[in-house]
Amino acid sequence: MPPGGRFGPGFLSDEEKKNRPKVTGKLLKRIFSYLKPYWKQMTLVLIAILASAILTLMPSVLTGRIVDEGLIAQNMNKLVFYILLSFGVTLLANLIGIIESYMNTWIAQHITYDMRNSMYRHLQKMSQRFYTTNNQGDIITRMTSDISGVQQVITGTLTSIISNSITLAVALVIMFRENWLLALVGVVIIPLFTIPTRSAGKTRWTITNESQACNDEINGILNETMSVSGQLLVKLFGMEKREYERYEKVNHEMIRLNIRESMAGRWFRMALNTFTNIGPMLIYLFGGIIMMKYDDSLTVGQITVLVALLGKMYGPVNQLLNIQVDWIRSMALFSRIFEYYDMPAEIENAPDAITPDHADGEVEFRHVRFHYDPEREILKDVSFKLEKGRCIAIVGPSGSGKSTLINLIPRLYDVIDGEVLFDGTDVRKLDLDFLRRNIGIVSQETYLFNGTIRDNLLYAKPDATEEELIEACKRANIYDFISSQETGLDTVVGNRGLKLSGGEKQRISIARILLKDPALMIFDEATSALDSISEQKIQDAIEPLIASRTSILIAHRLSTILAADEILVVCNGEIAERGKHSELVGRGGVYTQLYETQFSRAAEQTASDLGYSEGESDE
Ligand code: ATP
Repeated sequence: MPPGGRFGPGFLSDEEKKNRPKVTGKLLKRIFSYLKPYWKQMTLVLIAILASAILTLMPSVLTGRIVDEGLIAQNMNKLVFYILLSFGVTLLANLIGIIESYMNTWIAQHITYDMRNSMYRHLQKMSQRFYTTNNQGDIITRMTSDISGVQQVITGTLTSIISNSITLAVALVIMFRENWLLALVGVVIIPLFTIPTRSAGKTRWTITNESQACNDEINGILNETMSVSGQLLVKLFGMEKREYERYEKVNHEMIRLNIRESMAGRWFRMALNTFTNIGPMLIYLFGGIIMMKYDDSLTVGQITVLVALLGKMYGPVNQLLNIQVDWIRSMALFSRIFEYYDMPAEIENAPDAITPDHADGEVEFRHVRFHYDPEREILKDVSFKLEKGRCIAIVGPSGSGKSTLINLIPRLYDVIDGEVLFDGTDVRKLDLDFLRRNIGIVSQETYLFNGTIRDNLLYAKPDATEEELIEACKRANIYDFISSQETGLDTVVGNRGLKLSGGEKQRISIARILLKDPALMIFDEATSALDSISEQKIQDAIEPLIASRTSILIAHRLSTILAADEILVVCNGEIAERGKHSELVGRGGVYTQLYETQFSRAAEQTASDLGYSEGESDE
């Protein structure tokens, strides 16, 4: 029996009780499907557990022989023999225990390895919607702690159930074989050991929960009132006394709980000590009565064996009583993991997906409707066509649906109604790999992995040569910056590229797209505050790019817009206007408004910035 018992973890919290999973045959079958590949190793573990359980109990049985045949019979040879045998058996049991725990850990690690891999594969297939709706922390928790929990279930819960049940069964068989009447006394005594443990544990668990809540409240008060602004508020409103009283009250409650918690431990230990001592005494008493009054064939050794075995049963009984909680937790763990597995990937390759030989990057939207949430339509009947080698600029107020529209092309989301065609084929019928390979997006929020500039560039083309990398960087207008760095292409970009400026990051991502060399280029121009010089450098990088390939620009700056063959003005999820700048600017519609409030001012700003800084730094 572990001192102090299995307190807290031995009881379910209210939350756990409420979310108790339904244990169905299907769930169990699914869990076992993960264990199945390792059935050979598991059989070995089972044999090891059985052998170790029997061998662990052997010394208790040998104690009887030591007493009867060695001590009472005063036979030195037998005494030494049984003592050595007992020692040998214990050694062997422990050696088998080591093999068992190695095998157990091996199996558990392999199962979690399999689960992690398949979960990672599954999560990679999940749609953008999954990642925008689920909390990143939750996803990581499922991947890490939940799946690690499975290991605990296998090495802990499952092994504990098997090994404790075997130990108990073997101990009971031996006890009944030694003397059934005394064995019966033993069985009656067992609850005396276990009841106090459970009830004391429960009380302590309740108090621990209460004191946890109290502690949270104290921390809350401290956080609120011990900060600069909190103290300022307290002082200005003259609330010192009230805050002190509030603090004092919770503090007092805390000491009350602490005293109760420590006393619960005392009572528990007292009860435990009393009952652990009473148990053997009762067996000695009943054994003595039987031996002296009814059956003189009962030996002192046999009574000793029963007492020793009873001591060995205490731990397993207690652990099995607590196992129900572990079992429910394990099932909840598996249910949580399976819940993720069961989420449909949403966007998948069609079974008969087409992979054309080459791509032109032509795009057509036919009466496209889209919403993230059925309550709110984002795109309403959008139709347009982008022909090979041409460039479309999409403009519109913030939140009008420009990025959403773009996201439908590489199938980050699927349309609700209508069709998006890529080179004349519905994107849902094309091979996803083919589609995404032929579309390059430079997004507003540039994402770079932690690593070197080279690593980030090679992500687009792992076999690119040094010359290709340099050429791409030159064309993206970032080579001057890279060569000014001490380590050049091997400069570390930091976590998410945080060591670089927004403009540098975006130009690296343009170089990355250049290496990818897609048939369709989509450029989501940054609205964020890049200074005009950085903007100009990006502009210089993308202009030759769009001149040579099919492209879509989400534009916020006049110079970008002017570079396009056609402008689509998106407003409230519809194409409100379309045409060339010269046609739209005087029309008095949304475009005119955007021009007056946004583009012209940005253009003036750029001109003045560039004029002002002419001949100055070039990064
Ligand atoms: P901006 O110019 O500011 O980038 P935008 O025109 O590109 O804006 P979108 O990003 O397409 O606009 O967003 C259109 C609308 O859809 C917005 O109102 C936004 O709140 C909503 N929206 C965008 N992404 C999601 C999402 N993943 N889930 C739910 N709603 C979303």
